[in-house]
Amino acid sequence: MQKKISVLLPVFNEQNNVDAIYLAVKNIFVQFSEYLYEIIFIDDGSTDLTLPNIIKIAAADNSVLYISFSRNFGKDNALCAGLRKSTGNAVITMDADLQHAPNLITELIHKWESGYEVVYYFRKNKNKHASTLSGFFSTTFYKTLNALSDVKLENGISDFRILDKKVVDCLANLPEDTLFFRGLIKWAGFKQLGLPYNPSERNHGKSTYKTSMLFKLAIQSITSFSTKPLTIAIYLGFVFSTLSILYIPYIIYSKINGFAISGWASIIATIVFFGGLNLMILGIVGLYLGKTFMQGKGRPQYIVSQTNIES
Ligand code: UDP
Ligand code: MG
Repeated sequence: MQKKISVLLPVFNEQNNVDAIYLAVKNIFVQFSEYLYEIIFIDDGSTDLTLPNIIKIAAADNSVLYISFSRNFGKDNALCAGLRKSTGNAVITMDADLQHAPNLITELIHKWESGYEVVYYFRKNKNKHASTLSGFFSTTFYKTLNALSDVKLENGISDFRILDKKVVDCLANLPEDTLFFRGLIKWAGFKQLGLPYNPSERNHGKSTYKTSMLFKLAIQSITSFSTKPLTIAIYLGFVFSTLSILYIPYIIYSKINGFAISGWASIIATIVFFGGLNLMILGIVGLYLGKTFMQGKGRPQYIVSQTNIES
């Protein structure tokens, strides 16, 4: 039986890119005719002409499907919707701005055919397109995540990958409130292979991720993969309370020698320090509490407003 490949393209305000990416992906499968394919656009609440453009493409080509969200829910939620609706024996996820070169699709399929259940690309060189500040944030993010959690991610791991149906079935129905597929895929296990690549320039428009958003995303991803910060909070509390016990002999000594008042500065410094530490630890605890709060509501990860996929 002919195997089928699903290509998922999350799009957020990519009106000038949808035609180009569609043609590029289609062209690959026309050459690679032994496979059936479907291209699923997930419109993540675009406010420009992205959706009308996709609808036009889908009207002319029945291998093109689309799911449109009621608002912007984020790329990982868009991927989640695509994974749930995909019907391929393998699923390829890639950016729609042509930074993930479509001709690498053939390599992904070959590796998948050779037995790998997950094949993903990670950035080979330092990201020369990104500013040095965001480069710094990204490196710090991966270092922190790797130090704190059990999943290990390559610096610059991308969302350009192929997943076997088995892996898709595991990932598609996760009930998590904060999805972070780069981590979840590592967590899922299976036979994985990472390949280096050089991202191309963005075709049209600008990256939608701002540094402030990336910071929020980083905190969310770290806290959804690790509870180590909570353990660190306990250790810190323990270490400092032990240290403060050591302070007692000094207090007695200064009392006996009559220069107790000279400790004023050190007391203030200590109060400020511990005040800060307390707040920080409370914040960490609060982050996790907030996560269980959000998860407890059990809201869906996205809301679909329009689609051409029959359920
Ligand atoms: N994207 C999305 N939802 C968002 C932001 C981005 O679906 O909230 C899509 C976007 O249209 C593109 C891909 O995710 O296809 C990568 O986004 P972008 O190029 O902005 O990110 P970067 O290349 O900087 O990682
Ligand atoms: Mg991009």
